[in-house]
Amino acid sequence: MKHLGWILDLYHKTGQMVVWLKKPDGKCVRLTDSWKPRIHVGGNYRELIDLACKSYVENSIFVDKFERAGDIEKSRVLEVVVENDEEAAKLARRIQRESSYSNFRLYDVDIPSPQIYLYQKDLFPLALVEAEEKDEKIEWTLRDSRETIDYKLPPLRKIRLEIKTRKNKRVRTFEDELDSLRIITDDEETLVLDSGSEEEKLLSLGQTFNEIDPDIVITEGGDSFIFPYLARRAHKNGMLNRLVLGRDPSPLRVYEVQGHSYFSYGKILYRETAARLLGRLHIDDHNAFISADCGLEGLFEISRTCIIPIQRASRATIGTNMTSLQFYHAVKKNVLIPWNKNQPEEWKNSNELVIADRGGFIHEPETGIYDQVGELDFTSLYPTIMRDQNLSGETVKCKCCPNSLRRVPELDYNICDRWRGIVPQSLEILLDRRSRYKQLKKDEKDELKRQKYDARQSALKWILVCSFRLPWI
Ligand SMILES: [Zn+2]
Repeated sequence: MKHLGWILDLYHKTGQMVVWLKKPDGKCVRLTDSWKPRIHVGGNYRELIDLACKSYVENSIFVDKFERAGDIEKSRVLEVVVENDEEAAKLARRIQRESSYSNFRLYDVDIPSPQIYLYQKDLFPLALVEAEEKDEKIEWTLRDSRETIDYKLPPLRKIRLEIKTRKNKRVRTFEDELDSLRIITDDEETLVLDSGSEEEKLLSLGQTFNEIDPDIVITEGGDSFIFPYLARRAHKNGMLNRLVLGRDPSPLRVYEVQGHSYFSYGKILYRETAARLLGRLHIDDHNAFISADCGLEGLFEISRTCIIPIQRASRATIGTNMTSLQFYHAVKKNVLIPWNKNQPEEWKNSNELVIADRGGFIHEPETGIYDQVGELDFTSLYPTIMRDQNLSGETVKCKCCPNSLRRVPELDYNICDRWRGIVPQSLEILLDRRSRYKQLKKDEKDELKRQKYDARQSALKWILVCSFRLPWI
C-alpha cells in the first residue's frame, strides 16, 4: 500500500519506528517500520572480540567508521543492535562498568532514535513523502527537499486546551477536582465541557479529541500541570486506560513532573518534562523556545532544516537544534558521535567566545565624540567566516595538512584542506536559507507572505547565534 503525505510525528516503540503521515485529504495514517537503534563501541580489537562474545551483547557486527571528525582513517568498531533508547543507555553503562570504565569508547548512545532514523533515511519532519509498506518495512521516496524555501505544508488543525480546577487552596494542585475544560478551535469556536461527574468530563474530553482530531494542541502549562493533572484525575477515577488523547491508542501517561535546569545565554533556565500526545503535536507555550518568538512558521522551519522532530524542536534550546544539524552531517560522513553522559548545554554565543578567547585582532577605538559616523553591520559575521574559511574544531591545526595555504591570521594555525568541517557544512544551509528569505521578504508585496518569510528568517537567526563546539573536540 502506498501513501502520500507529510511526516507529522514519529517515535520509537520497541522494535519499530511509528510514523504519522498527514495526508492531503486531511486524514492521518499511522505507519510502522521495523527498525532498531544501534550503538557503537571502539577500543582494542581483541577486547572488542571478547566483548562481542559476552552474553549481554547480542546481535553485534564489526563495521568501519571514523571515531573522530577529521580522522584520516576509519577504525574497526563493534556495532550493537538494541531494542530502544533506554536499552542503549543501559547497555552502554554495563559495558563501561564491566570494563572498569577504561577500555572502551562508546558512541551513538544518547541521540534520540527518531532523529537517527530521519538522518539515516534522508527524511525530515514535515517532509512530503511517499511511503510504501512492504513486509513490516517502509520504503520512503522523498517528494520534497530540505533546500527548497518554497515548500508546501499541509493545513494543520489546531486547538487550544484550557482547564479549570476546583481549588481547595490558593494554588491549584493535583488533588483539586476537575471543574471544566475549554477547547478553543481554529475558527475561535469554544467548547466547554463542564457537565456530569469528573469521570464523565474526562471521557467527553477523549471523545471531543477524537471528533475534532486536532494535529496541534496548544496549552499554557500542559507539560507541568494540565496533562499530568488529567492523568492523575483519570487514575483516581479508575479510568486511566480509557483516557486516550493522542492518535495512538495508548492512554495518557502519569509521570512525575520534573524538569532540569540548564545554562543558556548567561541565564539559568528550567525546562519541564514534555507531555506527549502520540500522533499529535503538543506545544506548551510555557515550555517553548522558538515558537514563542517566531510562531509555528519559525518552528516548522527549524524542525525541517535541523532535522529535529517538531515537539522536541519546540522545547529544545537553540544549541540542541544546531547539534542535531551537526549530528546529521556526522552520520552522513560515517563519523561516530561520542556518548555525552550529562549533555551539558553551556553554549556560549559566538561573540562571547571571541571575547573569551581573544586570539583575534581588535581595533581599539580612540575615545572621543565624532560626527558623521558610518556604521557597518555584517549579517551573520562569525558563521559566514566559519563557513567560508572552513573553521571547525577538527579543521584548525589538523594533523593532515600542516603546510596548508589556508592559515589563521596572526596565529598562523593551519586549516584543513582535505576535510570539509562539520560546523561549516552545517552552517551552509542555515546561512543560505536565511539570506534567501531576507531577499524574498524585501521583494514581496503581500503582507502575510512577508510575515511568513520574516518568521522563518528570524528563527534561523536564533540558531546562527549559538556557538559551534563539537563533541569530538
Ligand atoms: Zn587536514
